[in-house]
Amino acid sequence: MSRVLIVGAGLTGSICACLLRRELPNKVNIVVWDKSRGSGGRMSTSRSPNNPSCTVDLGAQYISATPYYARIHSSFYEELLAQDILKPLVAPVEDMMSKEEGIMNYVTPHGVSSIVKHYLKESAGAEVLYDRHVTHIHRKDAGWEVCHKGGASQQFDVVVLTMPVPQILQLQGDVGSLMGENQRKKLEAVSYSSRYALGLFYKADARIDVPWAAKYVSNNPCIRFIAIDDKKRNLASKDCGPSVVVHTSVPFGIKHLEEEKNVVQPIILGELEKVMPELPEPDSIKCQKWRYSQVTRSVADCPGQMTLLSQPLLVCGGDGFTHSNFDGCIESALKVFDVLKSSL
Ligand SMILES: Cc1cc2nc3c(=O)[nH]c(=O)nc-3n(C[C@H](O)[C@H](O)[C@H](O)COP(=O)(O)OP(=O)(O)OC[C@H]3O[C@@H](n4cnc5c(N)ncnc54)[C@H](O)[C@@H]3O)c2cc1C
Repeated sequence: MSRVLIVGAGLTGSICACLLRRELPNKVNIVVWDKSRGSGGRMSTSRSPNNPSCTVDLGAQYISATPYYARIHSSFYEELLAQDILKPLVAPVEDMMSKEEGIMNYVTPHGVSSIVKHYLKESAGAEVLYDRHVTHIHRKDAGWEVCHKGGASQQFDVVVLTMPVPQILQLQGDVGSLMGENQRKKLEAVSYSSRYALGLFYKADARIDVPWAAKYVSNNPCIRFIAIDDKKRNLASKDCGPSVVVHTSVPFGIKHLEEEKNVVQPIILGELEKVMPELPEPDSIKCQKWRYSQVTRSVADCPGQMTLLSQPLLVCGGDGFTHSNFDGCIESALKVFDVLKSSL
């Protein structure tokens, strides 16, 4: 049995784990490490500190399937729709731009992280560990020695990296020296937008009376998107109040990128009051800085993966190797899996 470490419990990492479990059941021991306290990555769902049943999606909002991807990834869509993890978006969204004819938009009634949780559950037997921040990867014997912050290193036969590309480039140990000049240039050219997200949680009796479930804002320097998250997801729960998510514009995100969240949060709240003066006082607020939000320039030619060494295998994937959405992550995970399959 080969011991495979997947770094990152986001969508790409969780699909990689699921494909390995389903397609190579008796060949691998799967271990997933993530530096966060839970799964999801940029598809994370945050809970109110005062009422865990009140949730908000701070990152990805919808799953938008173009006719092409709906066809080539139909098995992924069918599986999630059959289990009610995905449901068609029916709530009104103001000023949503459609990049193409025939796009189907879906929401996740239980929060967008339910997609990632589904794939981790389907990786039955995989050891998934949080608070594991990988810092160094060294070649050792016929495999890899992987170190994480504040813990003992462990040995693996294969390592899969699925974090944003700048975080791959920050890894120490042998990763840097294994990269060819051309590979390094390609990785260094990858860029991401940055933005902030605010999650606002309300008490059960709070009412937010607006005719939309989400809207794109174009006349505010700070705010780009607002969703009444429970309404967007078509939820109606009596023991839980509404929740609102606010995304800032990218220029605002970049301007305030190096500031502390407690400095930026009041600025966003001040702008929100201008856009929605009728909003009641929230019960609690969560502020998230997305330093690596969506890929603005991916690895040239979108290869889906990059193999840094074949023997022992060290391979990178994630939306930086395709594009930033559900289908981009599936595409990357499938490419990573092809490499794993031919090496295991
Ligand atoms: C604000 C926002 C809005 C978006 N809107 C949409 C949308 O509407 N629809 C859509 O389809 N997509 C959307 N996206 C994009 C989508 O969320 C991403 O494309 C997708 O989640 C990327 O998944 P991933 O697994 O490749 O990377 P990630 O989700 O970033 O997962 C990587 C994981 O690696 C972990 N990690 C990083 N470094 C280390 C380390 N050193 N050691 C251990 N673990 C580490 C991280 O904690 C993270 O969990 C949005 C993203 C953002 C931020």
